[in-house]
Amino acid sequence: MQTYSRSLLIVIFLLILDKFGFYWIAFVGIIVVRYFLIAGGIYWLFYSLISSPRRVRTLRSRPVARKAIQQDIELSIVSAIIFAFCSAFIVSAYDSDMTRIYPAIGQYGGGYLVGSFIAVLLLQDAYFYFVHRAFHHPALFKWFHWGHHRTGEPTPWTSFAFDPLEALVQALFLVGIVFILPLHFVTLIAVLLTMTLWTVWNHLGFELLPVSFPHHWLGKWLIGPTHHAIHHRKYRVHYGLYFTFWDRLLNTHDPNYEKEFGCSANKNQ
Ligand SMILES: [Zn+2]
Ligand SMILES: [Zn+2]
Repeated sequence: MQTYSRSLLIVIFLLILDKFGFYWIAFVGIIVVRYFLIAGGIYWLFYSLISSPRRVRTLRSRPVARKAIQQDIELSIVSAIIFAFCSAFIVSAYDSDMTRIYPAIGQYGGGYLVGSFIAVLLLQDAYFYFVHRAFHHPALFKWFHWGHHRTGEPTPWTSFAFDPLEALVQALFLVGIVFILPLHFVTLIAVLLTMTLWTVWNHLGFELLPVSFPHHWLGKWLIGPTHHAIHHRKYRVHYGLYFTFWDRLLNTHDPNYEKEFGCSANKNQ
């Protein structure tokens, strides 16, 4: 064990000497800290502070098992190492002037900044829908997606718990997009922040919005905790990330969603 720890320290030291290795280790730190702060913070807030059923409507049928949290954290750290590798690749490619990331907002203007942010969310949602749906194919599920579903009902800790192959495929979207679309660093950070918060929200395990939400002209197009909890329970519906477009268009929208939204609301009232 001591030899193992020493070898690991030597590998980390050698990596720091290399620029790519330095980026990689720095990103592992940033991503892990982000995970514990956001997923951990929201978990603590909802599951310890305000878990009273009178205040929030639970989507869970049983209490959270300690082991499930531990498994999610382990897998999320493995995912962080892969996400960090891809982030280091993006920054190294930017250093070598190979990406389309641009440094000055004025180069394309404020309108483009906002438009590119929305475009990336729409593209990422489509990418996520199709790869997620493919991961549920019996031939791929065990290798790509079992880890995300193994703890059953999700908690915020599940939001970044991916098998290594899934983490790589998810990260490839951002790796690819920086070579295709001109993007400012602000846009990239805004996308990463939106993705983190939205993913944690989807795995919250509580519903906070009113029962009318899935009937609202805008609410019906947005994914949230009830929508994604149904995916974790039924597997064959709700593959989207942010928006319900693709699920509605390709018949993977659960016809009972609106009714279940109401049920989760009524359960604790
Ligand atoms: Zn999930
Ligand atoms: Zn899934």
